[in-house]
Order: sequence, then structure tokens, then C-alpha cells
Amino acid sequence: MACPIGDNCGIKRPELSHVLESHATRRGAILSKNISIESVRDDGRAVLVRFTDGSEAEYDLLVAADGAFSRLRDQFFGQEFRPRFAKQSVWRFNARRPASLDGFHIFRAANGTAVGVLPTSAESCYLFHMENSQEHLRYPDDELDGLLIERLRSYDAPLIRDALEQIKSPADVLFRPFDITLVPAPWHRNRIVLLGDAAHAPTPQLTSGGGMAVEDAVVLAQVLSDHPVDEALNMYSQRRFDRVKRIFDASYQLSVYEQNPLENREKSAKLLMESYQFIAQPC
Ligand SMILES: Cc1cc2nc3c(=O)[nH]c(=O)nc-3n(C[C@H](O)[C@H](O)[C@H](O)COP(=O)(O)OP(=O)(O)OC[C@H]3O[C@@H](n4cnc5c(N)ncnc54)[C@H](O)[C@@H]3O)c2cc1C
Repeated sequence: MACPIGDNCGIKRPELSHVLESHATRRGAILSKNISIESVRDDGRAVLVRFTDGSEAEYDLLVAADGAFSRLRDQFFGQEFRPRFAKQSVWRFNARRPASLDGFHIFRAANGTAVGVLPTSAESCYLFHMENSQEHLRYPDDELDGLLIERLRSYDAPLIRDALEQIKSPADVLFRPFDITLVPAPWHRNRIVLLGDAAHAPTPQLTSGGGMAVEDAVVLAQVLSDHPVDEALNMYSQRRFDRVKRIFDASYQLSVYEQNPLENREKSAKLLMESYQFIAQPC
């Protein structure tokens, strides 16, 4: 899917979802929404799943792609892999794209805080601001707009000032602490296998958590189509773990550098460039 302003353009989550869902449906996947898992029984050869609508079915394999706070991971791998706070959180909002914005830009204030901006279409852009803290922060949902505007008051770049003026309500702003986890290989127990954030939720500095989830899916599908299930599951973790760990570690290191950005500027830029070169290699 080409972006009208060139390669330096993000894609909004609902649009990515739409692309993935329509391709999956065309390839024969059956998507059920507004349904969850009531219980799971794994006898090592098959998984019996009972759903919240009362139906049940048996499968060769259950792929647990239920995010960083995966309940299936808690149940089958243990609670020690629950996410930990990375001492950083992010404020996010969307705005109209100014004509001059043609790629990713970062604005750094002298006190070390930063605002990043990325086009998401010819008309729109996405802005984020990171906040460091020792404790896991929560703010009242109905105060998010005022709290963000207060934090970015010292920025005088016209792009940021104009974007802030477009915030009209707390619902325009998202706030999220970075909660991270990396499950050691192997990522399966019997016939239940982890994928995406359920297996590895990094800090987002390398904008790669979603990319790694998609890579997991491609590799898992490849090995399952060529090998018996038990063999394929071992191959999946072997092919994925080292690459994912390198990206997870680099993302976290960048997050640590950003907590003292003025001192770590050169190291941070070097690691960022090296990591993107690594990510560009085939998985
Ligand atoms: C601030 C921020 C910025 C990011 N930026 C980028 C970026 O630029 N590029 C990038 O590639 N990645 C980025 N990421 C990472 C990316 O969002 C995640 O890595 C990605 O969403 C992981 O996909 P997933 O499908 O594994 O998990 P999720 O996206 O968390 O999806 C899990 C799904 O499972 C569902 N679910 C959970 N439990 C149940 C249940 N019991 N029953 C039924 N359904 C359930 C949830 O509703 C959800 O739909 C960013 C993350 C953050 C926090």
C-alpha cells in the first residue's frame, strides 16, 4: 500500500488492521469478533477450547497472540513473564499534516524532553512525547488533554503549537506506560504457542513491536507448512529468539539513553542506525 507522500510515512492502526483482516479473509481465515476463550485443555496432541459464546472446538495448535498482558501466557507459562515497567511512558495524539512535513522529525528541548512527529497520510500526522518516571504512572482520563498541553507549553516550533491547538478533548490524547517483557525460548508449551507481544513486548523506540509480531506469524506459518507440528514449534523459537532479543535489548537501551538524552545523544544515534540496519536484514 503506497503512501502518497513517499516512504517516510506511518500507517494508522485501524488501517493496518483492515489490510491484515481483508487479506486473511481472502486467504480463507474465519475471523470471529466479540468472543473470548472460557477455558483451554491441552493434552499435548490437541487443544480443546471452550469459547465465551458456549461453543467449543478442538485444534492442532492454539496461537496465543493476546498481547503483552496475555492471559494464556499467565496460564500456561507462569506469571513470572508479566510485563515490568520500563520507567518511561508516552503521550500520543493525531493532527493535520502540515505540507512541509515529509518524514519523521524529532524536536528536542534543552531540558532533554522530546516530541516526535511522523506523517500517517497526506492529510494526517502522529505526534508523541515521552515522559520518564521511577513509578508506574496513571492519570485521570478526563484530564489528559490539559496535562499534555501543560507539558508541551515550552515548545515554540509552529508545527507543535498548531498541533496542540487541534486537541479539543481528553479523548484526543492517549497516555501509556511502557510495560515490557521477553519470554525466553521456547515459546511453546505442548500445543500452545506465543506470538507477538505475548512473547516479546519491547519499548517502542525502534517502532518494531508490530513488525516483529508480523515476522513471527510469517515464520510460524512457514515452518508449520513444511514440518510436523512439534518439530515446527521448536524451529519457530530457534529462528525468532535471537533476532527478537537483539531488537528488544536495543529498544530498551535506547529508552534508557533517552532518560538522560543530552549525555547519550551520540550513543543513541549510533545504536538507532545500527539497529535499523539489522532490522532491514531478512528474518
Ligand atoms: C506507544 C507505542 C508505539 C508503538 N509504535 C509501533 C510502531 O511504530 N511500529 C510497530 O511495529 N510497533 C509499534 N508498537 C508496538 C505494537 O503496538 C505492538 O508490538 C503490537 O501491537 C503487538 O501486536 P500483538 O497482536 O502481538 O498484540 P496486541 O496489538 O496487543 O493485540 C492483542 C489482541 O488480543 C486481544 N485479546 C487480549 N486478550 C484477549 C482475550 N482474553 N480474548 C480475546 N481477545 C483478547 C486484544 O483485544 C488485542 O486485540 C508500539 C507500541 C507502543 C506502546
